[in-house]
Amino acid sequence: MKKLMACSVVALLTAAGANAQPGPAYDLLLRGGHVIDAKNHIDAVMDVAIKDGKIARVAAGLKAADAVKAIDVRGLYVTPGLIDLHTHNYFGTGEKNSYAGDLSVVPDGFTFRTGVTTVVDAGCAGWRNFEDFKDKVIDRSKTRILAMLNIVGKGMRSGNIQQDMTDMDGEETAKMALRYPKVIVGIKTAHFNGPEWLPVEQAVIAGIKANIPVMVDFGADRPTRPLYDLLTKKLRPGDIYTHMFSGLRQEQDPVTKGPQKGLIEGRARGVYFDAGTGGGSFKWSLAVPFIQQGFKPDSLSTDLHVDSMNSSTKDLLNVASKFMAMGLSVSEVVAEMTAHPAKEIRREDLGNLSVGSVADVAVLRVQKGKFGFTDMVNSRMDGNSKLVDEMTIKDGKIVYDLNGMEALPWTAPQGDISQDRRWTSWPRPKPRPDDGVKLH
Ligand SMILES: [Zn+2]
Repeated sequence: MKKLMACSVVALLTAAGANAQPGPAYDLLLRGGHVIDAKNHIDAVMDVAIKDGKIARVAAGLKAADAVKAIDVRGLYVTPGLIDLHTHNYFGTGEKNSYAGDLSVVPDGFTFRTGVTTVVDAGCAGWRNFEDFKDKVIDRSKTRILAMLNIVGKGMRSGNIQQDMTDMDGEETAKMALRYPKVIVGIKTAHFNGPEWLPVEQAVIAGIKANIPVMVDFGADRPTRPLYDLLTKKLRPGDIYTHMFSGLRQEQDPVTKGPQKGLIEGRARGVYFDAGTGGGSFKWSLAVPFIQQGFKPDSLSTDLHVDSMNSSTKDLLNVASKFMAMGLSVSEVVAEMTAHPAKEIRREDLGNLSVGSVADVAVLRVQKGKFGFTDMVNSRMDGNSKLVDEMTIKDGKIVYDLNGMEALPWTAPQGDISQDRRWTSWPRPKPRPDDGVKLH
């Protein structure tokens, strides 16, 4: 009886204490960075406050004392977590020479260190093997993985699998897309060599039935299915043309050196154009005149796989730095990795810093120096700026911190560690009694 009374007294005191001294309003506060949030038209020095995994406030003059953890990010850019619209992540099946296998990369190994919090897998799996991909990779990764279903039921695999028109079924593909609407955000057709329109037509059928966009890698250049017709007749407004700077399907007008009229008319009717620079899909000889003539990409993306990650593409910030070398501003390249791709996949809940949005954030540095950027034919453009990721936050918690901005000097007192879980994914360990450190 006595014990019960004691407990209730403690409970009362705790409740009274909580009322008298409320804790800090925010879990994490990034102070003094240059915020770029294209969706909300913010391009200015501001503070970003995070609470319970969501953006709580974006404003100037927020106080450090109002957050459990405040970090000074002056001189850096603070942007929504980056979205890489074209990647390949279906690794681990053991299949050789296959994007549902050895050609794909482990997403967590390549995302957070470049400010990327969301990737879109561009068609590694079709409706027959999507659930295996989901089980093996999507559900086990820290990175947010969205997917485009390949119109080929067996997915993006070696041999003649990608050429098998009998396995391109818009109805079955749409059914699977509708089963996982939070994850499947598009339909992909890719690498088709034949003269037929069937892959594009079946992809569009799936896109209509599942109400999601189609992304096209147009494969071999065939006179029976010209690029002009794809962009002006076959695709719908809102569909996506990737590898826009490859030059492999007559994207470039031979006279003006700018985009051929199909790209211009396609954009006018609402088709989106994605970089997808990859291993063999980006040439300076196209990109420079396109940009000079005002035909900029709607979205920047890597087409990351085991070859492109080590050759000219490297990572999303390297791609963005190439476009800065061609004259795009930091604000433009950030928009093309955040709000723009979010709009293309109709996930406008992502890629912004609106109050209430998921707190995915990248803190970027523009490094000055002498840099070289290469293309698919290994020619180089020199540049003097490069984007580097300093810190990445996913769902309100720090998941990458290049220079330990959030950490205390190793000689400093540890302080209160009880609230660490509110702002970081790697809270400091509690000292053990035999460490000789006084416990809190
Ligand atoms: Zn690809």
